[in-house]
Amino acid sequence: MEIPQDLYALLEKTSASASGLVYTEPSQQKVVQDKTDYLISYITALEDKDTSNKKQKTNPFENPDPSLVVSRDVVYSLILNKFPIIKNHFLLITNKFVKQDSLLTPQDLVVTHDILKQLGKDLKGQKNIRPLAFFNCGPASGASQAHKHVQFIFVDEQQHGLWPQDVVDRSRQIIYVPDVDNPPLTDSSKKFAHFVLPLTRERGEEDTEIPMDTFAMIYMGLIQNCLTVMRDHHLANDEENHTRSMLSYNLLMTENWIMAVPRSRDTVSNEELGCTLSINSLGYVGMILVKSKEAFEKIVSGKIDLEEKVLLESGFKKDYEKQTDEGDY
Ligand code: AMP
Repeated sequence: MEIPQDLYALLEKTSASASGLVYTEPSQQKVVQDKTDYLISYITALEDKDTSNKKQKTNPFENPDPSLVVSRDVVYSLILNKFPIIKNHFLLITNKFVKQDSLLTPQDLVVTHDILKQLGKDLKGQKNIRPLAFFNCGPASGASQAHKHVQFIFVDEQQHGLWPQDVVDRSRQIIYVPDVDNPPLTDSSKKFAHFVLPLTRERGEEDTEIPMDTFAMIYMGLIQNCLTVMRDHHLANDEENHTRSMLSYNLLMTENWIMAVPRSRDTVSNEELGCTLSINSLGYVGMILVKSKEAFEKIVSGKIDLEEKVLLESGFKKDYEKQTDEGDY
């Protein structure tokens, strides 16, 4: 896809004139600092938003509202999220229907990275704002639409840092394709399974494109690790029909790193929380939406261990006791 120059300005312009946009400002927002920076948002209008999301009986990406379209070519369109909570939240969608739970193609990966690179250039003067791409894939991933879409938001890193960047910085590694001897990186302090890989190039090569086949191998390496976690989990729990269960995962990407998180469920509810939380990719970089005022107060007062009670519950435990190496995907 030919990425528009000044994409950020184009997003702002389209947002300003989009008649179809239904923006909801969080009523309250607070950063909770733990091992992860959490940005907890309380949204009163969320139930309405949920309803309008579910009410759409037709595929909203088949003929997107023209006022939301930012750019379109033969294969893809960039459209604004109709129900954003973060300004300029937009989506890369395929023009023709492709299932959301199919694999990303090498072209999808390269286009996503090109968009992040272009936005990085556009935002050069505003160093604290970082574009983040994410892909919710599979029934337990938090996805609500069946038509393939990669989403993009802007994160204010002064307010809320993205921890996978620290993992990459600490490793001092540049881009590599993972294998048995060089597995993906992880944050040793996190209890949930996750796999991070750097996308940074050698100095002087930063502007060169990451070759499509390298991108494809990096992505497949992440998927293989997610499948192995699921397989080990099911074996450890004696789940006989595990071969039939579908892979669910979240994929998150910035210009400098890519991360996959295997998922076990899309919502969590337990007595301590007193409500149900829907968790998608953004939950794993600490961005959590809460519909209940009581739950919001409880969470921001630090009474709930979010890693244990939310992220671990909707993901998988890291370092499952391996049954055998031979069956690794
Ligand atoms: P997900 O729930 O991860 O599948 O993401 C779907 C995204 O599409 C959400 O951010 C929705 O708010 C957004 N969305 C839903 N309906 C529309 C629509 N008609 N036009 C544009 N975006 C939409």
